[in-house]
Amino acid sequence: MTNEPQAPEADVALLDLGELPERENSYEAERQHRKQQLAAAFRIFAKFGFDEGIAGHITARDPEFADHFWVNPFAVHFSRIKVSDLLLLDGEGKIVEGKLRTNKAAFSIHSTIHEARPDVVAVAHAHTLHGRAWSTLSKKLDPIIQESCAFYNDHVLFDEYKGLVLERDEGERIAALLGKNKAAILRHHGLLTTGGSVEEAAWWFIAMERACQMQLMAEAAGTPRIMSDEEAEMAHRQFGNANMARHSFRILADQIFENEPEVLN
Ligand SMILES: [Zn+2]
Repeated sequence: MTNEPQAPEADVALLDLGELPERENSYEAERQHRKQQLAAAFRIFAKFGFDEGIAGHITARDPEFADHFWVNPFAVHFSRIKVSDLLLLDGEGKIVEGKLRTNKAAFSIHSTIHEARPDVVAVAHAHTLHGRAWSTLSKKLDPIIQESCAFYNDHVLFDEYKGLVLERDEGERIAALLGKNKAAILRHHGLLTTGGSVEEAAWWFIAMERACQMQLMAEAAGTPRIMSDEEAEMAHRQFGNANMARHSFRILADQIFENEPEVLN
């Protein structure tokens, strides 16, 4: 041990979450991994109640063709999605693999973010109860709980509403506002999260929906104490890092792969 100052990231290592299993380094292996995590993510979203009618989409960039992404088919319940149901869309929104229909809003919103953010592998969006309730307040989340700090100085409020997002220019405005942040609150609409993997985007979505629920509950009961900048920044490092998200998602996905093996069909 030395007394030299530690890098800010050092406290993340204290969590000692261990290494995730290594994967074969090929486009095909990485593609298969992303598709499997994506199919599992929909089933996890269904279990959390993030389904509502035909709304919601999660996308995963193809590892080989950077302007192509995988997405859920239109009007198939999240709880039933299998790997073979996933659609591959090209940069123009044309289905280049898969037999089912796509949702135009999925392309309008997600393609612009995939294009603007090369570091983003996955984008998640759904119409959830607490995320939508929070979105009506037209304000960002406060750092009031350590897990909520995953979004401290790391999310934006898209403060406009123009109905279904069917045009790419609205998607472009969301992508421009998002900048380097990991998530967005879309006013009168819902939440959107991004990640360097499917695992991260899906976990951040779960965490953000919960953060909205917790702040709604806390504000209904009283006036929550806001954490100091120093506290919030520390919690952001500890609860807002990619490693935390990937491990948190993995233990949920493992249950899906074990209990619903047909997801891999
Ligand atoms: Zn939507």
